[in-house]
Amino acid sequence: MRELLETLMEELPELIYISDPHTYELLYLNEAGRRTFGELSPDGSSRCHRVLQGLEEPCPFCTNDVLGHESFYSWEITNPLTNRHYLLRDKLITWRGRESRIEIAFDLTEKEEERARFAYLATAGETVVECIKRLSENEDTLAAINGALALMGGVLDADRTYVFAIHEDRMNNIAEWCAPGVEPEIHLLQNLPLSLIDRWRLAFSAHKPMIIEQVEGLKQTSPEEYDILSLQGIDSLVAVPLESDGELLGYLGVDNPNMGKADDIAAPLMSLAYFMSSTMQRERERHVLEMRTWGDMLTNVHSRTAFYRDYGADPLRRVGLVEADVDEIRLVNVTKGREAGDALLVTVADKLAEAYGRERVYRTGDDEFVAIVTDVDEAAFVSDALALSRRLDAQKVPVTLGYAWQQTCLDVRSIANEVDEKLKQMKQMRARARSAGWKPWEESGAGTLLRPGGAAEAVAKGAVSIHVQPQVDQDDQVVGAEALVRYADPETGELVPPLTYIPALEDMGEVSVIDFHVLDLVCDLLVRWRACGYVDDGFSVATNFSRRTAEDAGFIERVVSVVAEHGLPPSCIEVEITESARESDSQELTVVVNRLREEGFRVAIDDFGVDNANVSLFASMRISTLKLDQSLVDCIGSNDWGAAIVESIVRLCADLDVTTVAEGVESPEQLALLRAMGCARIQGFLTGRPVTVEAFERRWFA
Ligand code: C2E
Ligand code: MG
Ligand code: MG
Repeated sequence: MRELLETLMEELPELIYISDPHTYELLYLNEAGRRTFGELSPDGSSRCHRVLQGLEEPCPFCTNDVLGHESFYSWEITNPLTNRHYLLRDKLITWRGRESRIEIAFDLTEKEEERARFAYLATAGETVVECIKRLSENEDTLAAINGALALMGGVLDADRTYVFAIHEDRMNNIAEWCAPGVEPEIHLLQNLPLSLIDRWRLAFSAHKPMIIEQVEGLKQTSPEEYDILSLQGIDSLVAVPLESDGELLGYLGVDNPNMGKADDIAAPLMSLAYFMSSTMQRERERHVLEMRTWGDMLTNVHSRTAFYRDYGADPLRRVGLVEADVDEIRLVNVTKGREAGDALLVTVADKLAEAYGRERVYRTGDDEFVAIVTDVDEAAFVSDALALSRRLDAQKVPVTLGYAWQQTCLDVRSIANEVDEKLKQMKQMRARARSAGWKPWEESGAGTLLRPGGAAEAVAKGAVSIHVQPQVDQDDQVVGAEALVRYADPETGELVPPLTYIPALEDMGEVSVIDFHVLDLVCDLLVRWRACGYVDDGFSVATNFSRRTAEDAGFIERVVSVVAEHGLPPSCIEVEITESARESDSQELTVVVNRLREEGFRVAIDDFGVDNANVSLFASMRISTLKLDQSLVDCIGSNDWGAAIVESIVRLCADLDVTTVAEGVESPEQLALLRAMGCARIQGFLTGRPVTVEAFERRWFA
């Protein structure tokens, strides 16, 4: 019987030993035990605690005291010598005549790992639940995500947990948790090309995690990925997709987890990712809602409502407002499709955002955006706006800018109206400059003119001259002329259309330099023509003055003295000023016009009909000439209504002794109609283009 038992024990795979519970002498160790712990010393000096646990003293957890002869006592321990986990069953027996203890050890290591795995999964599960609770309770999504990353990082005993958000073809690290002593990387991982994770996206698109158990292994297969990951000190990682409705919003990743197997890590991460993506989606929706109310969905800038919310209440100081109006958006929509139109709007919004910061940009109309800057110097503001305008032209973005600056602005509507007005003028000017062959994207040679002191420099260098365009009467006789400024690009010698630089010079406060230089040239010209007998007292030359110049203090005195210095009668100069429909400054203009008239000058209102034909101006201003703008002239041939209006204006002028000049007459039909209406003078390409002084003289005085 004893032999049989011993043979059996010898052959069992479990470790079995028998010892003396009083002396701790190790009496027997079976074959499996001897293989693990070595042979017993034949002199009986082997002690169970020394051989089996490596302890000099009896084990503190020794079970001798609780053992009996009846049943086995079961317990578990991880043995420090074998590093394995055992289920132990102990009992007292009589062995070779003495009371002994027997212990049978079942190796549970594999099972223990399994159990640890369950324990880990349970903890991870609990953590996920905790994270979800936070994600759903926390108002601040980013804070909730950060909290979840920290919890998860702790459970996984990882170096780093993080979330990347994907936007179009770029991705940004938006949240990161780092274990103590691990360097944050978030600031380095911004605006990365999405192509970096092309391989991962394959897994993500199958709703699978990306598991890299050994980054080292990528060295050969995916060297670029290896470089990036190993540089960050990553040995292993697990990343899971954040997706909503099949769209990849981003991913959640864990670097160097020490807990659990990669597969086990992925499972709870996937559930966390599920909730995280719905939080991100909710955040997006909230953003969408917010944008619907306060922002523009398409272009991702604030809305018109937001503009008045932000700036409608308080007075503003040193404020600059830029308005960008997309040129012919409807035409783009029709000819190139709505998508092209939308893309154009997005581009314009982005350009403004680039120049002024997105938080300062508002979409105020279908094709209108504004950017507002407060506490800014006028000069700095204007030069920025000019630079932006040039940049947009150079990049062929079809947009027109209007801008204004005010020292104190009590109501943002007032500056908005001023900008509107400017923009309208700009649009017309640009349209005309374009029809005169100007291509906005071709770097205009006006660049050197458009810097502080540029106008005076150009005048001093002799780069500013005039062309002259004839005005003819009913009998085709030249009875007057208009002087038009000409500036030649210093490099190419090409003439730059005045409408591309006059408005900018007005904004820079330098246009009067040009205006008075032109007046000087006109006076020189008249002195010569009169001396040569080409013209008499009845012949006047019109010269253009910007409203900015005309409103300068001392403007009239200066005009008077220049003309007097040349020894000319004031009546041979016709001062041309553009009327604008705005009530407020009509008054100032009235004063200027009437004083010039008192001094004996002729005064013409230029571009009449561009804005709206403001007939009331006749009541207060004693003008001598009304110049019908080309837009009015153009409509006489095409519609009866327009013809009737022009005819009645011409008649009114005749009654008031105001000379009418029709501008931009290009066709014989227009000429015939205008003459039939009684229009006094014609100025247009048909009767004579603006030409150099020499050419003019050859044509009309030879
Ligand atoms: P504006 O005073 O109305 O001058 C008439 C413009 O119409 C001129 O353009 C002239 O070339 C153009 N024009 C004349 N006849 C025709 C025609 O039959 N068809 C077409 N399509 N165009 C015609 P320009 O020379 O380009 O001057 C544009 C504007 O620049 C002027 O418009 C005026 O507002 C401004 N400007 C010109 N010289 C001066 C100046 O010395 N001082 C100021 N402040 N502004 C000036
Ligand atoms: Mg003019
Ligand atoms: Mg005009």
